[in-house]
Amino acid sequence: MSYNVTLIPGDGIGPEVTEATKRVLEATGVAFNWEVAYAGAGALNTHGTPLPDYILESIRKNKVALKGPVTTPVGSGFRSVNVALRQRLDLYACVRPCKLYPSVPSLYKDIDIVIIRENTEDLYAGIEFEKGTPEAAKLIKLITETKGDAIRADSGLSLKIISETGSRRIVRFAYEYARAYQRKKVTAIHKANILKFSDGLFLASAREVAQEYPDIEFEDRVVDNMTMQLVKRPQQFDVVVAPNLYGDIVSDLCAGLVGGLGVAPGANIGDDIAVFEPTHGSAPKYAGQNKVNPMAMMLSGVLMLRHLGETKAADRLEKAIARVISEGKNVTYDMKPDAPSDQTVGTSQVADAVIEKLESSK
Ligand code: NAD
Repeated sequence: MSYNVTLIPGDGIGPEVTEATKRVLEATGVAFNWEVAYAGAGALNTHGTPLPDYILESIRKNKVALKGPVTTPVGSGFRSVNVALRQRLDLYACVRPCKLYPSVPSLYKDIDIVIIRENTEDLYAGIEFEKGTPEAAKLIKLITETKGDAIRADSGLSLKIISETGSRRIVRFAYEYARAYQRKKVTAIHKANILKFSDGLFLASAREVAQEYPDIEFEDRVVDNMTMQLVKRPQQFDVVVAPNLYGDIVSDLCAGLVGGLGVAPGANIGDDIAVFEPTHGSAPKYAGQNKVNPMAMMLSGVLMLRHLGETKAADRLEKAIARVISEGKNVTYDMKPDAPSDQTVGTSQVADAVIEKLESSK
C-alpha cells in the first residue's frame, strides 16, 4: 500500500528540511506518492496567488499533507499562507508536542508537554481594519456610540473572535487526545480576568467540556502566570489547551524548554484532513546553506506516520532520531551551541545518520 500525500516544500529553509524528511520517511519502508505543490511568493509569481486552489484540492483529495515553512511578509504584502491554509481547510487543532529527548541541551529534565492550540479564531481570524480607512472610521464611530469609550481616530483595529463552538471543539479535541495517549491532565490557558467575553467564554466552555471527562484532571491558568510556571516547573504540565495567540506564543516557549525550534514538531488537524509541519518558520537567513536542523520536520513526519496508523514505522523513526541526538555526533549547530563548527553537521548529514540508524534497526 502506498499513501498519497501532498508535499509542500515551502521556502527559506523549507525545501532542505523537507527533502531530508522525505528521505527518512521513505527509509522507514512505508511507501508514499508525493504530490508536490508550491505555495508562497513563488506561487504568487506563477499563479497570481500565494495559495493556489490546486493545493487545497490536492490536500482535500489526499486528506494528508506534509508542509515546510512558508515566509509571510511582515506588515504589508500577502497574508499568511499558513494561517489561510488552516482556515480554508478548517484545521482547527494545532498539536505541538514538546518532549525532551535525552542529551538535548536544555536547562530541564523530564518534559513531555503537548500544546493543543486553537487554529482558526482569536486575533488570527484576520478581521482587521487599517488606520485611516473608512471601515476603521465606521467601526470606531460604532464603538464610541455603543460603548461610550473614546478610541483614537488614528487607531488600527484587529478583532479577537472567540466562539463557544470553536472553544468547545478544541477543548473536546484536547480531551480526546489526552484519552487516546493516556494523558492525565488538561490545563486550559486564558486571560479571562481581563477579556471577560472572549477568553471568559473559552474558559466557561472548557469547564463545561471537562465535566464530560471525569477520568482526566482539569485545571486552568491565566496566561501570564502560565508562562512563569512553565519556566519554573514545566514538569507539572501534561496536555495544554489554548486559544490561538496564547497557543502560538506558549508553544514557542515550550520548544525553547526542550532544545529549541529545531526539534519542535507540529500538526494541524481538522475533522478529516491533517497537515503536518514543524513549529519553526522559514528562517530565511539560513536558506540554502545545508545548516539547520531537520529534526522538527522529521518529528512532524513521525506524527504523520502515527496519524496514518503506521505505528511501528513511527516508533522506529522516532527512536532513530533520538539515537542520533543522544550520540551527539551527527547533529546540527543548534544542538551543540558551544561546539566549534567542525563538530556539527549539516541538514542532509543528519538525514544520512537517521537513515543509518533505521537500517541498523531492521
Ligand atoms: P523562524 O522560526 O523562521 O526562525 C527563528 C530562528 O529560529 C532562526 O533564525 C533560527 O535561529 C532558529 N530556527 C528556526 N528553525 C530552525 C531549525 N530548523 N534549525 C535550527 N534553528 C532554527 O522564525 P522567524 O524568523 O520569526 O520567521 C521567518 C519566517 O517564517 C516569517 O516570514 C514567518 O512568518 C514565517 N513562519 C512560517 C511558519 C509556517 O510556515 N508555519 C511558522 C512560523 C513562521
